[in-house]
Amino acid sequence: MIPVARPVLGPEEEAAVVEVLRSRHLSLGPRVPAFEAGFAARVGAPYASAVSSGTAALHLALRAVGVGEGDEVITSPFSFVASANSILYERAKPVFVDIDPVTLNLDVEAAAAAITDRTTALLPVHIFGYPADTPALEAHGLPIVEDACEALGAVHADGVRVGGRGHPSAFGFYANKQLTTGEGGMLTMGSAEHKERVDSERNQGRAPDMGWLDHDRLGFNYRLTDIACALGLVQLDRLDGMLADRARVASWYREALADVEGLELPCEDFGGDVRGWFVFVVQLPRSVDRDETIRALLARGVQSKPYLPAIHLMSFYREAFGYREGMFPVCEDVAARSIALPFFPELSEGQVAEVAEALADVLQVAHEAGAA
Ligand SMILES: *Cc1c(COP(=O)(O)O)cnc(C)c1O
Repeated sequence: MIPVARPVLGPEEEAAVVEVLRSRHLSLGPRVPAFEAGFAARVGAPYASAVSSGTAALHLALRAVGVGEGDEVITSPFSFVASANSILYERAKPVFVDIDPVTLNLDVEAAAAAITDRTTALLPVHIFGYPADTPALEAHGLPIVEDACEALGAVHADGVRVGGRGHPSAFGFYANKQLTTGEGGMLTMGSAEHKERVDSERNQGRAPDMGWLDHDRLGFNYRLTDIACALGLVQLDRLDGMLADRARVASWYREALADVEGLELPCEDFGGDVRGWFVFVVQLPRSVDRDETIRALLARGVQSKPYLPAIHLMSFYREAFGYREGMFPVCEDVAARSIALPFFPELSEGQVAEVAEALADVLQVAHEAGAA
C-alpha cells in the first residue's frame, strides 16, 4: 500500500526527543524560544510564537487583530475547515467568497466586492502551498490573518516568503505537513505587541513578568511542549532537503500524468510566485465518479483522499449561515473533483509511476464503462 502521506523522521529526531526526556524539562523550557527563533528566521518574520496547533495559531491571530462578536471575516470556502472554524471561536462570521480557478486561492476581486463596514479582517489561505495574492489584499487597509498552514517554503513574486509579510500567519505541524512535530503550530508576525499578546494568551493569559497566581486577561492552554519543539528544530534543519524532495516528486508526477486525458494537474508557478509543495491534488474529469475512483485506486494499493470538501456545504455551516449549493460555483466544482495522491519526500520515482499507472487504468475503465 502506498500511503497519501508519511513524515521523514530519522535518528536525529529520535536523539533530540530523548535528550529532552533526559533533561526532565518537558515544557516551558529552552527549546520553545529556540524553535521560534529558528522558524522566524526561516520565513523572514520578526517574531514567532509556538502553539499547540495550526488552529490555535489562527485563533490567537484573529484575537490579536481584534476580531470579535458580530464581525465579518472574508475567507475561502476551499480550505481545511480549521480556517473558518477559528473565526467562529470569536463569534464572528466567516464570509466566504469564491476561488480563482487556476490557483484555487481566494478570488481577490470577489473578496474586494464582499467588504462591508462590518468587515474586520481578511483571511486568505495559501491552499496546497500556492501563495495567495496577499499583496492585492493589502490594498484595502484591513487587518490580514494568513492561513499559511499548507505553505511552508512558499515565496511571493516580490521575493517575500509566505509568513514574512508582517501579517499574523499561521503554520501547522501535523504529521502530513512540510515540517512536523506530531501536532503543533506557529504564528509568525511583525508586531511586538501581537507577540506579547499571543504569548500571554497561549498560556492562560499570564503576562511575561507575572507569577502564576495572577492572570490579567483571558487565555487558553495552547502551549507547545519542549519535546515537540526539539522535533521541530531538527525538522527545520532538514527543511530545505525535504522541500526539494517534495518538488522533485511533484515534477515526476507532472511527467507521469501529462498524457492522462481530462485530468487537471496543480497549476505551475507563474508570475514569480513559488509554491511550497504540500500535496499533489488532481482534478478528475467531470464524467468520472470521484468516490468510485478512490475505491478503485485503493484496490490497486494506492491510497488517495477527497481533498478538499467545500466548507460552506458542510452541514454545520449550512445550518448556521444558510449557505447552499450554487453560491460558490468554482469552489464547488473543484471540491467535487479533487483527490490528493500519495505525496511525501521519500516517495520514489517507481512509486510515482505505480500511482500514475493505477490512476490512468482506473480512469480508462471508468471512461469505457461510461461509453458502454
Ligand atoms: C493543517 C491545516 C490547518 C491547521 O491544522 P491543525 O491540525 O490545527 O494543525 C489549518 N488550515 C489549513 C488549510 C490546514 O491545511
